[in-house]
Amino acid sequence: MTLGPAARLFVPELVIDPPGPARRGQAVLVDAGRIVAVGPDDELRFDGLAVEPLPGLTLLPGMIDAHLHLEFRPVDEDAEVIRLLAADHAAGASAEVALGHARIELVAGVTTVRDCASSLALLAVRDAIAGGVPGPRIIATGPPITKAAGHLSWTGVLAEDVAAARSATRELCERGVDAIKVVTSGGTMTPGSFPERAQFTTEELRAIVAEATLHGRRVVAHALNAEAIRRATGAGVQSIDHARWNDPGGADAYDPSAAAQAIRQGVVFGLTASGWTRRRARGGEEDLAYLRSAFAGHRRLIADGALVGVHTDAGATETRFGELAESLRVAAVGADLAPAQLLASVTSIAALTVGLGDEIGSVAPGYRADLIVVAGNPLVDLDALERVQRVYRDGELVAADGRIVG
Ligand SMILES: [Zn+2]
Repeated sequence: MTLGPAARLFVPELVIDPPGPARRGQAVLVDAGRIVAVGPDDELRFDGLAVEPLPGLTLLPGMIDAHLHLEFRPVDEDAEVIRLLAADHAAGASAEVALGHARIELVAGVTTVRDCASSLALLAVRDAIAGGVPGPRIIATGPPITKAAGHLSWTGVLAEDVAAARSATRELCERGVDAIKVVTSGGTMTPGSFPERAQFTTEELRAIVAEATLHGRRVVAHALNAEAIRRATGAGVQSIDHARWNDPGGADAYDPSAAAQAIRQGVVFGLTASGWTRRRARGGEEDLAYLRSAFAGHRRLIADGALVGVHTDAGATETRFGELAESLRVAAVGADLAPAQLLASVTSIAALTVGLGDEIGSVAPGYRADLIVVAGNPLVDLDALERVQRVYRDGELVAADGRIVG
């Protein structure tokens, strides 16, 4: 094996490659930003190789938050989030706000984020981080595609028919977004939009997917009702976030045949554990019952074999940054996910969500060395994810003990 001068061997107490178990006596060899080998410590020690001992600590993949909003300030009122976003855009402060939020995520062990609705100013932040400014890898959708009276119209690109849907997608791709976000139903933050109604026709969504595919981009759909999920699936989107299965009256309308079709197509679903769900998860019996009913559709999806990632929606109302670990507790209570599944939901599954399933989210040879080191075993005690000691991106130490390095 020929190694570069910067090759290093990490020797932690435990290694976890989700959804696998915690393994003892394993070391992880990293070179040129990637994992080269994972195996018994004594077999990977070469003469002259730099060794990084991590006694008593657990090494696992950096977490991935596949749905957040770096430009939004997470205050407690919808109208105030919208007002502050507009004020930041007017003052040219969006990039600075986004970088600050991105770094809160990084320090908390999140090495990749997918931003699902910011302005194109975020692309400069993404590029600066890719160029060496410390921060998480950013996958940016830029402004979401929506309708004039639709959810996120206050920050989106409007597309009222098939031709507009196609041209909006083309323009976003040409401007350099990494993925396309389309708001296929109403949402809770936008007055006058209806979460229980679909916003786009299947034909409009097909045009978006076709154009995005032409440019090598994936499409993520925001969908808060069963009809929106059916249309997004029919159009061939790759990821469906929020994934609430309500009918127009708000009742649970889980559709097994639509779910089966989505699963066959390889759609990855997103479970949103945002601020209000965290609040409920800390509450009494009534709160927990509410959470259980809110995530009933996700439990059915998981039982039916769907891939479900967990994300925070940080930046949205009441949803602070750097709290992905707390969102996992919500998913444990609401969706019955076991610890190994919880870890996979923010690593290997989330990597599939963002289209980087072969690059990040695993501690295995060939993957990028986006790694975190935590105190304790998160498979036994989820709180260990809140004790992030070190964060590496592409093999470089970028955060330690709650601070950015470099
Ligand atoms: Zn969102």
